Amino acid sequence: MAYTLVFYNTFKKSFSYFYPMNKIEHIGIAVKDLEKSNALFASLFGEAHYKIEEVASEGVKTSFFKSGPNKIELLEASNPNSPIAKFIEKKGEGIHHIAFAVDNIKEEIKRLQNEGFIVLNETPKKGADNKLVAFLHPKTTNGVLIELCQEIEE
Ligand code: ZN
Repeated sequence: MAYTLVFYNTFKKSFSYFYPMNKIEHIGIAVKDLEKSNALFASLFGEAHYKIEEVASEGVKTSFFKSGPNKIELLEASNPNSPIAKFIEKKGEGIHHIAFAVDNIKEEIKRLQNEGFIVLNETPKKGADNKLVAFLHPKTTNGVLIELCQEIEE
């Protein structure tokens, strides 16, 4: 028994070492009008959003959809200085970020900084959907805003 457990933990450790970003947690889409887009995505997926959440510190109002095992986050600016307002001003509505699930966000931040990526939040902050999050500057990731997220354990 003990041996199996040791083996399992070693395996798990090496697994997350080789695959630090476990999976795509969600894709974030910037929208001008959350209410309109909620209706649009509900008809696209055949199912309404399951959650609406405002993250005041980020100036965003978000809604979440499930499509099978995948998650889509819609983001609307809640004030004119919101990063989402600036994104839409510059690029229009559309894909805003790709979020990856990680087991240990602090270790991942260190690893990515060592690899030369610019991490926008050296200390992870509380994001939507009960997650600790940190973003990588798109300048160092071919123009794609990457979010790291780790589930907050109660
Ligand atoms: Zn996100």
